[in-house]
Amino acid sequence: MRLSRYFLPILKETPKEAEIVSHRLMLRAGMIRQQSAGIYSWLPLGLKVLRKIERIVEEEQARAGAIQLLMPTIQSADLWRESGRYDAYGKEMLRITDRHERDMLYGPTNEEMITEIFRSYVRSYKDLPLNLYHIQWKFRDEVRPRFGIMRGREFLMKDAYSFDLDQERAVESYNRMFVAYLRTYKRMGLTAIPMRAETGPIGGDLSHEFIVLADTGESEVYCHSDYLTKDTPGEEVDFDDDLTPIVQDWTSHYAATEDIVDKAEFEASVPEDKRIVARGIEVGQTFYFGTKYSEPMGAKVATTEGTEVPVHMGSYGVGVSRLLGALIEANHDDNGIIWPKSVAPFHVGLINLKPGDELTDTTSESLYSKLEAAGIEVLYDDTDTRAGAKFATMDLIGLPFQVVAGPRGLRDGLLEVKERSTGEKEMLTPEATLNKLT
Ligand code: ATP
Ligand code: MG
Ligand code: MG
Ligand code: MG
Repeated sequence: MRLSRYFLPILKETPKEAEIVSHRLMLRAGMIRQQSAGIYSWLPLGLKVLRKIERIVEEEQARAGAIQLLMPTIQSADLWRESGRYDAYGKEMLRITDRHERDMLYGPTNEEMITEIFRSYVRSYKDLPLNLYHIQWKFRDEVRPRFGIMRGREFLMKDAYSFDLDQERAVESYNRMFVAYLRTYKRMGLTAIPMRAETGPIGGDLSHEFIVLADTGESEVYCHSDYLTKDTPGEEVDFDDDLTPIVQDWTSHYAATEDIVDKAEFEASVPEDKRIVARGIEVGQTFYFGTKYSEPMGAKVATTEGTEVPVHMGSYGVGVSRLLGALIEANHDDNGIIWPKSVAPFHVGLINLKPGDELTDTTSESLYSKLEAAGIEVLYDDTDTRAGAKFATMDLIGLPFQVVAGPRGLRDGLLEVKERSTGEKEMLTPEATLNKLT
């Protein structure tokens, strides 16, 4: 992508309304634009990262056997009356009336709708286990939307729903999502710690919140420091195996959020030098809630004996849009964002220091097309801007590598290659640059 033809509205001033660094940097880097409280447009650079995060989530959901579908954002209130949540959900639900005076709502989550889909098609234990998920916009009329997309009112969530014959098998499904989550966050370069959690309006009794430690996190958390260095299951993990040992290992130490922390238990089970009391960001949550929805909504399956039982369900959310904020909170410096490679909007920022100069033009153009041909995403700064501003923009948007084509270096046939995360610079020939980046 040529910067001259891209849409990257960089802000020079630090926006006053933004209280935390990720929000400030997302606004400055031209990634999002607030349209009203807690509701954002995703500008091209922000959308690119959002899509990268989605892709990782999709790959790991597929690996764990979940199947993607897409449900609408607008739901009928009648479905929620069946489960009893229409009244229970309260003011966080955005209620809408259509022209026929029918009560509708903008979905804050989809347990009811997926249960309706399940009961319409699935009749037998033979079709289980089943795990269906989608990545869709949700709306929750948060009392205090803040921190940019971290606590938006409209936000993107991955929500999966598992269906099993009984509790034992439902826990196996739960474990598959649990392990998928460990892998998903790790692939983004985040350490998310599963913590015992309260189930809130979703309900049920088995639940974990996946928490990324960050000073700007909204909840206080208590956990064992060994979680920060624990190995994450690799690609070889077989989701058809019994995953209990992995889940046990990842729940063997104390980890809980302030909502349910038992400080006495925390202090008794964690040696003093291993205690972490910190702030954390909830980037996902898993729930097993048995027949809470299947029972009232009549989602039943035939057992091997031919009797009918309500299906056992779980639900599993990932805060896809919130993850952008969490990623920036975890990866930035004074100059801007430092994207982990797996989610970076572009891999390389190529700076032509002097457009119009024959040598910098031909070298940049040639490297640009070779990198693109090799499938590397490049943001090519071919604009007529002063050098300082070009460098500042590249540091701000945080692409993993910067390549500078300047008249001085090129006199010796060399480009400057900088790694954003370390700041390390080296002078390389165009060929060596190409080899390094492909
Ligand atoms: P929170 O405690 O932050 O209000 P929640 O517990 O209400 O979140 P869940 O119902 O567990 O949220 O939804 C699954 C995930 O969706 C959360 O773990 C979080 O990452 C994300 N999420 C929830 N609310 C928001 C929001 N207002 N803005 C952005 N992401 C959100
Ligand atoms: Mg909430
Ligand atoms: Mg929560
Ligand atoms: Mg939650």
